[in-house]
Order: sequence, then structure tokens, then C-alpha cells
Amino acid sequence: MRRLITDNDGLYVDRPIYALPVPHTWEHDPTVTLVGDAAHLMPPLGVGVNLAMLDACELALAIARHDTAGDAVRAYEETMLPRSVAMARLLDGGAEELLSTEMPDFAHEAAH
Ligand SMILES: Cc1cc2nc3c(=O)[nH]c(=O)nc-3n(C[C@H](O)[C@H](O)[C@H](O)COP(=O)(O)OP(=O)(O)OC[C@H]3O[C@@H](n4cnc5c(N)ncnc54)[C@H](O)[C@@H]3O)c2cc1C
Repeated sequence: MRRLITDNDGLYVDRPIYALPVPHTWEHDPTVTLVGDAAHLMPPLGVGVNLAMLDACELALAIARHDTAGDAVRAYEETMLPRSVAMARLLDGGAEELLSTEMPDFAHEAAH
């Protein structure tokens, strides 16, 4: 698979993978909050979209169930922050294994 990328005829564009530090939290502000990658950008190991959708649903429900935006934001963050910190701890450093820079020795493998 790697040779399909490195040996192609067109341009090779390097797109780095970023992740937020673990844990990533902030002081509560009743007027603003974050959802999805903005709140908890992690290595791409299959959870980001799911967490982003869950965040959005929970924030929407919190807004519907609370009298003030500040109460809704606090309720949302009380659930979202511990969940995303726990998941970020689990995946921390995972991209290094996924995206190893070591190239396999294809000639050696083909000969055996
Ligand atoms: C290679 C790769 C593979 C992945 N595989 C998976 C997977 O298998 N399963 C999974 O669940 N997740 C996966 N993810 C993670 C997933 O893509 C993200 O977690 C998810 O897209 C986050 O959604 P979001 O809405 O928070 O952010 P985004 O999808 O990044 O949406 C943010 C949007 O805001 C826009 N924007 C940015 N700045 C501005 C601005 N100033 N003004 C207006 N708009 C702006 C951007 O253009 C973008 O459209 C993968 C990610 C990568 C990089």
C-alpha cells in the first residue's frame, strides 16, 4: 500500500496527523464550548466522527433540558470531558504504530 503512494506519478502531498495534548480541558465558560475534534483531536483510530456526533447530540439535549445556556454547557462538559480524556489516553501515541516510517524490504520478502 505504501508504494502506491510513494511511487505514484503525481505529486506526493505530506499531510501531517495532529493530536491535542492529553488531557485537554479548559475552564468552564457559560457562553462558549467545543465539540468534536476542536474539543478532543485524537490520532485517527476510528472514533473521531462517533465522538463528534455524540457531543453534538448531548449538547443539543442539554440545551433543550436546561433553563440557561450556562447550565447546559456545564452539564454537557461534565459528561463530554471525562469521556474524551479517557478515550484520548487510550489512543495517545497510537498514530506512531499506525504510520510507521520504516519501509518493508519487498525484494527480500519476495525472495522468501
Ligand atoms: C485519516 C483520517 C481517518 C479517520 N478515520 C476515522 C474513522 O474511521 N472513524 C471515525 O470515527 N473518525 C475518523 N477520523 C476522524 C474524523 O474525521 C474526525 O474526528 C471528524 O471529522 C471530526 O469532526 P468535526 O466536525 O469535529 O471536525 P471536522 O470534520 O474537521 O469539521 C470542521 C469543519 O470546519 C471547517 N472550518 C475550519 N476552520 C473554519 C473557519 N475558520 N471557518 C469556517 N469553517 C471552518 C473545516 O473546513 C471543516 O469542514 C479520521 C480522521 C483522519 C484524519
